Amino acid sequence: MKELKGSSIAAGLAAGRAVYITRKGLTIPEHRIPPELVNAELEAYLSAIHDTEKEVLEYLGKHNLNTSEEDIINAHLEIIRDPELKDIIQKLIREELHNAAKAISVAYEQTILFFKSMENEMFAQRAADFEDVRNQLLRRVLKDNDNPFSGLGADTIPIFHEIQPSEVSLINKAGVTAYICELGSYTSHAAILSRALNLACVANIPGIAEYIAEGDQLIMDGEMGMVVKDPDVEALEYYAQKLQISELIHQKQQSLKTAKATTMNGRDITLSLNIGLPEEVDKVAELGSEGVGLFRTEFIFLSRNELPSEEEQFEIYRDLAQKVAPSALTIRTFDLGGDKLSHLIPSPKEDNPYLGNRGIRFSLAHPEVLRIQLRAILRASVFGKIRIMFPMIIDVDDFLEAKRIIKTCSDELYNEGKEFDYEIPVGTMVEIPSAALSSDALARECDFLSIGTNDLVQYTLAVDRNNDMVNRYFIQHHPAVLKLIRATINNASKHGRSVSICGEMASIPEYVPLLIGMGINELSVNPSAFYEVKRIIRNCDDKLERIIRNFDFSTSLPQVDDLVYRSLKPYYTVKRSPL
Ligand code: PEP
Ligand code: MG
Repeated sequence: MKELKGSSIAAGLAAGRAVYITRKGLTIPEHRIPPELVNAELEAYLSAIHDTEKEVLEYLGKHNLNTSEEDIINAHLEIIRDPELKDIIQKLIREELHNAAKAISVAYEQTILFFKSMENEMFAQRAADFEDVRNQLLRRVLKDNDNPFSGLGADTIPIFHEIQPSEVSLINKAGVTAYICELGSYTSHAAILSRALNLACVANIPGIAEYIAEGDQLIMDGEMGMVVKDPDVEALEYYAQKLQISELIHQKQQSLKTAKATTMNGRDITLSLNIGLPEEVDKVAELGSEGVGLFRTEFIFLSRNELPSEEEQFEIYRDLAQKVAPSALTIRTFDLGGDKLSHLIPSPKEDNPYLGNRGIRFSLAHPEVLRIQLRAILRASVFGKIRIMFPMIIDVDDFLEAKRIIKTCSDELYNEGKEFDYEIPVGTMVEIPSAALSSDALARECDFLSIGTNDLVQYTLAVDRNNDMVNRYFIQHHPAVLKLIRATINNASKHGRSVSICGEMASIPEYVPLLIGMGINELSVNPSAFYEVKRIIRNCDDKLERIIRNFDFSTSLPQVDDLVYRSLKPYYTVKRSPL
């Protein structure tokens, strides 16, 4: 038996066989094909070549590339057109009866290994070019099999080096219940999505391949961040017991479904859910939540093969609004960029993508994409109670610029005789320090505010939310962050606007009393944290409010540590309210 300790990303216990995910997540079917399928596989390969070449040429035509970018694209074109490789692949299909994906993979592998063995920067780049083209071809020939992970299942624990949010939703669809990541952090989008999908995850075990081989039997404890290889009888018993206990807790929590999220001194807190995938909306009824406080619509993009049309989006938003009614569905416009780059809208590489073309900036730079989304949202608004929210707003002018596009879309719809909610509430995320510092002006113009602490912490403390190396600086209760939250609460209340917290902070038990005590009346949380947060809200009282009212936030971090981890501890550890 061997135990490895990583970081806890998403709770959950699972047992299964280790499967290393290589080739950027593509699983190559190993089977040979019957001779009558040779032509079909050849055709699949040739059309993958054709489509990939076409896409690359279109990309070249559309973008103003510098010389080195053009060199890379030309190198790709050369590889795609390489007659020798084409011959080898066709031969492998015809003579060896390999399926197209396997043939591509075999043919490219040799060249890639050759370049890699040269141990030289230039050849390494060459290997990377071949890998890139190979992956593009593979994705195309595997298109019948939309999900490259469909070969996995509940009896496997895939191991990734790093994982993309779109891959999280794909492994979930494949039936996987737990996975390991060599690198990863708690507030990355992949991590948030994992928790939303109840997909257990342990990350940050560098060099894991030294200890775990393909096919090893593993137990994974997401809550403790533990991976156990070849568990002995004692470990098996321990985890079986732990599973039983967590099932009991789960059953007990059900009693909170109908209980109100009201504090002991009678403050009603709106407790809603964050969702990333349309199917997660079922959790609203299942958990008894008061609507959706954040629908991260960009996830629609990440799992599609083509841009979602207005009609397609309209149907998604309409169905969600109907399911969530009479509660509100808060739709955040696409927050693309950062770690959520869409393969559907090619974008030039940015050195600092989190400070670059992200969120509302990306949408304003692609007005057609935003327009289609806003039209779809507006049309859906008559089917329920929809609110629109913009991500990554820096100040009131930024907000007003985005809001003007809603006006254009409303005018269009009006002229087309289409129905929509004329008074649809429009709000802003507060996730950039400048937005918090401008919250007075922002609150005057918008209908509601929602604090995205994941980014607010990242940008206030200049600490990459995805980088585990600087994890210790990602301090969500840092006094600088709390001052920005407090300023936002005060300004929202000055203008009579509601303000919620939809960042991960709202889902972390230790922070719930702090936020409630600071005056927050709305929390939007991850489904997996819902009942625990409700339980803690029901523990809060006026004494808590007094403690926080008298607390000086201009203080140092150790003092806030003392507040959160000592003074407020009874509120999140002890069960004080009935149920
Ligand atoms: C946030 O930044 O806290 C937030 C809710 O948005 P996201 O995590 O999607 O960036
Ligand atoms: Mg954000």
